[in-house]
Amino acid sequence: MSNLRFQVVEEAFRKKAAPVRVPKERPSQYFGKYVFNREKMYKYLPADVYAKLIDVIDNGARLDRSIADAVAAGMKQWAQEMGATHYTHWFQPLTEGTAEKHDAFVEHDGKGGMVENFSGKLLVQQEPDASSFPNGGIRNTFEARGYSAWDPTSPVFIIDDTLCIPTIFISYTGEALDYKAPLLRSIHALDKAATDVCQLFYDDVNKVRVNLGWEQEYFLVDEGLYSARPDLMLTGRTLMGHESAKNQQMDDHYFGTIPDRVQAFMKDLEIQALELAIPCKTRHNEVAPNQFELAPIFEECNLAVDHNMLLMSLMKRVARNHGFRVLLHEKPFDGINGSGKHNNWSLTAEHQSIGTKRTTLLHAPGKTPEENLRFVTFIVETLMAVWRHNGLLKASIMSATNAHRLGGNEAPPAIISSFLGKQLNELLDHLENEELRMKNEVASEQGSNASFFNLNSSLKEQIDIPQIPDLIIDNTDRNRTSPFAFTGNRFEFRAPGSSANCASAMIALNSAVAEALRSFNQRVWKRIIDQQRSGSTKMQRQLTTEAIIAVLKEDIKTCKPIRFDGNGYSEEWVEEAARRGLDVEKSCPKIIEHYLDEQTVRMFESTKVMNRKELEARNEVKWETYVKTVQIEARVMGDLSMNHIIPVSTHYQSQLIKNVQGMKQVFADGRAERLSARNMKLIAEIAERTERIERLVEELTDARRVANRIADIHQRAIAYHDTVCPKMDAIRKECDHLEMIVEDGLWTLPKYRELLFIR
Ligand code: ADP
Ligand code: MG
Repeated sequence: MSNLRFQVVEEAFRKKAAPVRVPKERPSQYFGKYVFNREKMYKYLPADVYAKLIDVIDNGARLDRSIADAVAAGMKQWAQEMGATHYTHWFQPLTEGTAEKHDAFVEHDGKGGMVENFSGKLLVQQEPDASSFPNGGIRNTFEARGYSAWDPTSPVFIIDDTLCIPTIFISYTGEALDYKAPLLRSIHALDKAATDVCQLFYDDVNKVRVNLGWEQEYFLVDEGLYSARPDLMLTGRTLMGHESAKNQQMDDHYFGTIPDRVQAFMKDLEIQALELAIPCKTRHNEVAPNQFELAPIFEECNLAVDHNMLLMSLMKRVARNHGFRVLLHEKPFDGINGSGKHNNWSLTAEHQSIGTKRTTLLHAPGKTPEENLRFVTFIVETLMAVWRHNGLLKASIMSATNAHRLGGNEAPPAIISSFLGKQLNELLDHLENEELRMKNEVASEQGSNASFFNLNSSLKEQIDIPQIPDLIIDNTDRNRTSPFAFTGNRFEFRAPGSSANCASAMIALNSAVAEALRSFNQRVWKRIIDQQRSGSTKMQRQLTTEAIIAVLKEDIKTCKPIRFDGNGYSEEWVEEAARRGLDVEKSCPKIIEHYLDEQTVRMFESTKVMNRKELEARNEVKWETYVKTVQIEARVMGDLSMNHIIPVSTHYQSQLIKNVQGMKQVFADGRAERLSARNMKLIAEIAERTERIERLVEELTDARRVANRIADIHQRAIAYHDTVCPKMDAIRKECDHLEMIVEDGLWTLPKYRELLFIR
């Protein structure tokens, strides 16, 4: 049997680091080279057009179609100077990737020749023939009209010879068919709700920005080894493979030196990312062997999402130049840590006072008691959102691929909870229990400093909140098992999968927090007005502060079940979480149902992020994607079992049989038997296991056949989860046992130790 495996292993060992083209300039100089950023807008656009465009980008002013032609002309000039010949609307359909359709700049000049042309109309809106993108039935193919529309807040960029224009993708009737449209709506809703709440604290805030800093984890595998694994090629993960004797027990890969070939890849990737204005900052090894991470400096949420999408495709291209394949799958190897995409999320208020450009990180403590009250407000209302919509947040990160990562003994568990750390927990507990203490104290010693938030009305304008002026939140006591952890001045949502579009999680989180902040604001104002109606003579500030504290107290109690600082991997936590009313469901198709919960629909509709029709359509797509993913895996598993595992195993078995027969000729009866005992056992074991595999593969096919007959896609997805997946697990177990007993030299599929340690 000729063995591709040994050939590719040998080749992989001989590979040297590929040379990297290092620009002569410094990173700060080539940063954004291929991006039509402000500097270039300023250079290539007329002054009035530039001013109008900046107003659109910074202040959300309406796009004036009259400037589109001038903008397009400037872009075209720059792009052509950079050697671009084509342009494309670049959008993010529900397939987790990006899509584009390239058109050349050239058009007929009407005189038999061609001219380079790019009008405002082509920049602003296009009608890609994209009827094949998933749309959950919103667009029937006979009415296959979807529009892509320019998103001016994310700058255009050049890849190779093509000018790429970030766009949203919507149906003829206005429903979102992508991630960007609802993401922009959710950012807008959160900006509005957070700004309103900010105005309770500051009078000069009229915009709140949403920040996202993602950390992208990935595996690198040598290209040759990759191509000898049909499962990696077709499904992105290994469907079988016995654990390597050494994997991550030693943790010696984590922060270890980065191997040469990988180092070259990373350097190349970073340079190209910086040229596209992706602000890469850190790179290091992850816990598992051949697993790495890249993280940029955080940016405005919409831009950060685009940059992550761009980076993922860049990674794939650059890796090929270095003889690697990037695995973005959440769980390429069983028994080894999976890959996630931590989403660091926070809000920044922009103060508009004349003369100064000041900003405030709303989830960071401040220097004054009043600022700390603002801090506590944004923490508590974020927790309210996560508590109320914990099921939805889980749905927002759930997929057939991420399901392999969640629920195993690794971060994060399949239950959404939030880690706050000791200090912040104590602060919230203190605030919650203050009521009792205050009543007693107010009765005995008026205006006591012992009170947490001192609301003595004799203080008039001055608001005294004595016990939290100097909050320095310790962000070192991190809990790696928490899916939603507070880390000093932001929350880190660790559940999103490495292959996912960050937008999915961000849409859910932004909208849920917008809803919570809006409800908070309404309840605060109701209290203030009630107080005024009942004849209170207190100053407005005092009333506001009292109202804020009262509502926070209510909310701290309400959202308490979401706070969990313990071990998220433990069995007890699952029981405890269920008692607390948190979602503990593990089945992916069932978790996705949360998108259609009444409270979810209400939340998305009230924030104007998505309507019921859009949600229903998107769920169809999610279930369909789930079914397709499992279906492909099941087919590949069947093929591998029948074409690799069984033939190789029976081949080895025949050798054993020959040996046993030979032994009988060499030794006397009793002795031959005794000496062949081990081989006899192996012969029997191989026979039993291959027989079981054959039977299971048949059952797998039957399970698929039965599931495929279910018309309703939701029920079909459930059937795939309940009946197809368990068969695959059973087959894998048999295959992995065979890998352990079959002679290494015969095994055709590269083994875990080769996939994980050669680089
Ligand atoms: P870790 O220890 O989890 O790897 P890092 O300090 O490397 O954390 O930061 C991870 C990511 O968090 C980076 O992308 C960083 O830019 C981002 N980040 C830092 N501060 C904030 C913030 N206030 N809001 C959003 N993201 C942030
Ligand atoms: Mg992190």
